[in-house]
Amino acid sequence: MITRTLQRIAAMCGGELVSAVDTDMEIAGVVTDSRKITTGCLFVPLAGDNFDGHHYSAAALAAGAAATLWQQDKGPAPEGGAVILVEDTLAALQKLAAAYLSEAAPQVVAITGSNGKTTTKDMITALLEGQYKVHKTQGNFNNHIGLPLTVLSMSENTEIAILEMGMSSRGEIALLASLAAPDVAVITNIGESHLLQLGSRKEIARAKLEIAEGLKPGGLLIYNGDEPLLAEVMAEPSFHAPAHMQTLRFGLSADNDNYPTGMMTHPGGMTFTTRYLAEERAFTLPLPGRHNVINALAALAVARHYGVTEANIEEGLKRLKLTGMRIEVMMTASGLTLLNDAYNASPTSMKAAIDVLQSMKTGGSRIAVLGDMLELGPEEVDFHREIGEYLDPALTDLVFAYGPLAARLAEAATEKFGPERVFAFTDKAELSSVLNSKCSTKDIVLFKASRGMRLEEVLHSLNEHF
Ligand code: ATP
Ligand code: MG
Repeated sequence: MITRTLQRIAAMCGGELVSAVDTDMEIAGVVTDSRKITTGCLFVPLAGDNFDGHHYSAAALAAGAAATLWQQDKGPAPEGGAVILVEDTLAALQKLAAAYLSEAAPQVVAITGSNGKTTTKDMITALLEGQYKVHKTQGNFNNHIGLPLTVLSMSENTEIAILEMGMSSRGEIALLASLAAPDVAVITNIGESHLLQLGSRKEIARAKLEIAEGLKPGGLLIYNGDEPLLAEVMAEPSFHAPAHMQTLRFGLSADNDNYPTGMMTHPGGMTFTTRYLAEERAFTLPLPGRHNVINALAALAVARHYGVTEANIEEGLKRLKLTGMRIEVMMTASGLTLLNDAYNASPTSMKAAIDVLQSMKTGGSRIAVLGDMLELGPEEVDFHREIGEYLDPALTDLVFAYGPLAARLAEAATEKFGPERVFAFTDKAELSSVLNSKCSTKDIVLFKASRGMRLEEVLHSLNEHF
């Protein structure tokens, strides 16, 4: 984590140190949540919609914080400790993180995309950590607050920082990329998440490509070559690549630089082959799904850019452990297989999860429990119907839909499956009870919906019964 004297911190965040007894006192770490104060930290009060952290500055100092930032328009600063006056605490937090990152000067790998950011970040970390001292975004701390906090929690001798960048509108990735100045940027794919805010997939592509515009001169952009919109946007006059930008494309299609020459599903995950330096190599991935092979191709490109040895790559893939709820394969006490992908959903990731379910071998039935995908904009009904049509009645046995939008998915599925294999619910308890009665051990049950649907509650109920 960051350690600097109070005086340095004030300079780094563009603030003015007031009421400090000892300007050479070192602070250690930055905290924005007053319940998580550690001795000697810097407390950064942020103003949210429902609360204002400035109410907690005095308590933070009393609890052991070495200093607090204080926004000038918030009235008199608290007594009882060092205060750094700033114009805007959020901007100061971001400025401090940018300054720390440029002083610590690790290589920076930044990852964005509609789906697979966290997965790809975890893969890149697994591949690099055998050979480098790395620091990565914890969980999903990928926004204008999470990213600065991720940077400030990094130890100073970090060699490669691996940062996830999320967004919901234009300009957000630009801000994060200008803060982090990546050496390598990865765009996993362009999906439909945040279509409501952005209006079109092309606009989503423009938003993601802000990460490339923020690369250091000579930086490397690794992007999904199966997505034509990315190349289209890069050809637009409004796109400004940094000087001497390098590019590398990955994806399923054989005209990419990195593509799978073969792929096989097995019980523990996937095996795939790909060509590197004119040689064919095989890799085993302890994760299900074609989409994870694509994520792995992006991660391999980063690893090879940093000269990770083939032995370390192999070891790294074995070590892979993803952040929870991304197609987690779980087994109940009596042997029912649960695919927990209830963390979030968009049409692209929903199809990827259905591919996983439909490719798994089972002695029983394959059951899809699918909930609403939120924030898709005016075409939301069509997106849900499309998923209903995507389900293959030869490969999926039963479909359970949860929520008013998923009801439209169920309607479309019924056309192919018939009414006796499709069930739609708006009540979670009712869904759980019917699902419990239809399942038997040996079945595989997929759970997937947007975060707001909290579909994992149904999974937990099933897990308790079996
Ligand atoms: P968030 O926007 O919530 O941070 P993320 O981009 O970090 O999401 P992950 O958490 O890695 O994405 O995965 C989210 C979902 O997307 C998972 O359900 C996963 O199955 C699916 N997914 C992961 N990679 C891909 C991919 N390359 N293509 C399609 N779907 C994917
Ligand atoms: Mg994520």
